[in-house]
Amino acid sequence: MESMQAAVVTGLGDPLEVQDIEIPSPGPGQVLAKLVTSGVCHTDLHAAHGDWPVKPSPPFIPGHEGVGEVVSVGEGVTDIKVGDMVGNAWLWSACGVCEYCRTGWETLCEQQQNGGYTVNGSFGQYMLVDAKFAARIPEGADPVEIAPVLCAGVTVYKGLKVSEARPGQWVVISGVGGLGHVAVQYAKAMGLRVAAVDIAEDKLQLARELGAEVVVNASNEDPVQAIQEQVGGAHAVLVTAVHPSAFGQAIGMARRGGTIVFNGLPPGDFPAPIFDIVLKGLTIRGSIVGTRQDLAEAIDFYDRGLIHPKVSTRELSEINTVLDELAAGKVDGRVVLQY
Ligand code: NAD
Ligand code: ZN
Ligand code: ZN
Repeated sequence: MESMQAAVVTGLGDPLEVQDIEIPSPGPGQVLAKLVTSGVCHTDLHAAHGDWPVKPSPPFIPGHEGVGEVVSVGEGVTDIKVGDMVGNAWLWSACGVCEYCRTGWETLCEQQQNGGYTVNGSFGQYMLVDAKFAARIPEGADPVEIAPVLCAGVTVYKGLKVSEARPGQWVVISGVGGLGHVAVQYAKAMGLRVAAVDIAEDKLQLARELGAEVVVNASNEDPVQAIQEQVGGAHAVLVTAVHPSAFGQAIGMARRGGTIVFNGLPPGDFPAPIFDIVLKGLTIRGSIVGTRQDLAEAIDFYDRGLIHPKVSTRELSEINTVLDELAAGKVDGRVVLQY
């Protein structure tokens, strides 16, 4: 048997174990890629901890921002060949025939598979991808820089789209971590005015460098009051923060008629003010990653030089340290594993 190294979740809440496991072979419609990089998303931490109501079943390999070179191609794959660069995604596959798939909402498909959750992901030397759903990595792309686009990028790009904010309007990006710092960049590229909220001064500094006009540190001032006073309330609020308190605050930061989009997925609930939501005509919506088309568009923003994720590289053996740093809010931008 040919083997590879991978970081495996063996029990929910336990540290990952770097193990030697068999290299999978591609089934019909699949390709095998030798990984070059993989971003580490906060979702991987939720997965390893079993934070959500629908839990993954160990053993599994997390990771859904993987970039790799195709080394073998399964039966029936016609549009990907050996040597191509592909990426995996959270939306690893969908059924293609249900009401959601048929209406452009494949991200809501109940038969979907999720990279690094229901199928093995990119925290290893090789990964399988579904040829119909794999990201196409453009020629010349930096495999380290583009990795975060595959989840963080597409997620916030889609979140901004469904916020329906228009050029010239204000958007608050709440949480300037892996998702949020690219959200600032997509928002700018989409012609929006950006205010950023976080609880860490270094994250706010990064947001300023990336073009946020207003920054608010929610650990030492009331972000609702600050956003209402400084921008008159935001037309849209995109929440990527990992604490439930940011979700209630997001509602207070919106302008009348505004839309609040939730991307962040911390476990828990928050109280929502019925009176404000009704009287101010607010829209609150969740948004989960993006379709293949959203992903292609998000990658195209990168390809045109409009987006530059801030990345730092680490090795697979350091995965538990990386996850601890993520849990402690100590990661600036995105950590990308390099194989
Ligand atoms: P991250 O750890 O890189 O960033 C989280 C940020 O939130 C940090 O900057 C932190 O300082 C900030 N934060 C914490 N508490 C806050 C508060 N009270 N107010 C404002 N900011 C606060 O995480 P990430 O990889 O960017 O992921 C963020 C969340 O988005 C996770 O819950 C993840 O699971 C989720 N996610 C959702 C989707 C989706 O499709 N909806 C996709 C990817 C990730
Ligand atoms: Zn993710
Ligand atoms: Zn479907």
